[in-house]
Amino acid sequence: MIDSWCEYLKRARLGLLVCFSLLISCGEPPLHKAEFYVFGTLVEVSLSGVEESRADQAFSLLQERFQAMHRDWHAWEPGKLANINERFARGMAAEADAELVQLLGFSQKAEILTGGRFNPAIGKLIGLWGFHTSDFPVTGPSPSAVDIAALVALHPSSLDIEIRAGQLHSSNRAVQLDFGAIAKGFAVDIAREALAGLGVHDAIVNAGGDLRAFGSRGTRPWRVAIRNPLGGALGVLEINQDEAVFTSGNYERYRETENHDRFPHILDPRTGWPARQVMSATVVANEGWLADAAATALVVAGLSEWNEVTDAMELDLVLIVDEAGQIHATPAMLDRLLLSETQKPAITLRRQ
Ligand code: AMP
Ligand code: MG
Repeated sequence: MIDSWCEYLKRARLGLLVCFSLLISCGEPPLHKAEFYVFGTLVEVSLSGVEESRADQAFSLLQERFQAMHRDWHAWEPGKLANINERFARGMAAEADAELVQLLGFSQKAEILTGGRFNPAIGKLIGLWGFHTSDFPVTGPSPSAVDIAALVALHPSSLDIEIRAGQLHSSNRAVQLDFGAIAKGFAVDIAREALAGLGVHDAIVNAGGDLRAFGSRGTRPWRVAIRNPLGGALGVLEINQDEAVFTSGNYERYRETENHDRFPHILDPRTGWPARQVMSATVVANEGWLADAAATALVVAGLSEWNEVTDAMELDLVLIVDEAGQIHATPAMLDRLLLSETQKPAITLRRQ
């Protein structure tokens, strides 16, 4: 249903808009909801414990902010980021506003913490694989191994970028920024700040299952379902005060070749090839940008390295579904997840 609605909006070229704002009340304080089509997904914002006029004010502000982020950080449509990438390719410095500089700073931090498994400078590789599109699955043969290796050999990294006097300088012309794996996370953080600035302290900003939730839903905590890549929900989480929940997966967006080989959209920057060992990775953290980048990095890390990334990023709450459908989780995640008793024994705990 949501997919077809998004598709309708995309096709109608409406871009981002507030779809509706309604009031739901079932014994709990009223809940105000609005939807925005942004970052290629439907973002649903639910506010609790505020008057309708305050909610309307919040939705207008969020619409404006989301629209700007969508436009300014787009990885392949014309805009601020495309201009920056064009200038880098020509060896020139580029202007950037404070928010983009902050996003770059978080991205650099995440690239270091994940040992380069998250790398927002591999835009050329992502483009080479044909993943700069909204139409999935991508079809046709995968790019040539020679072209992939040639781009990997240029070692693009966000750490090639220096910020001097408000300008970005890249020492590597192969750097092409693509914030697809962190932008939604940073966007929900910005939304959280914007809402707090308006006195909204109980809300969920849910971007297609990736979300930041804070405060409570009246007398009870917010509850969110963790999606099972094989269908349905893996379990339910109650949110403690203020948390971000992000899932990355290789099952929805991919390239499919003529002989039905699938190449998912998350690439291992070290090889230039798609990561295939993990079907989905879910991270709960205190900040959206961190949870978002970490979830992508965990898909790249695969089963052999996910513990390494979890430790380096000091993540307590991680859940992985491997390509065979087996679930792996940190002990804290297993404690937090509300599962049926039959589900619990099926989960492998990470080694201590
Ligand atoms: P996510 O859904 O958050 O995992 O982000 C996936 C998107 O991030 C892809 O569609 C690419 O645009 C981009 N991407 C793919 N692989 C990587 C990677 N290893 N590091 C950073 N960004 C990536
Ligand atoms: Mg991500």
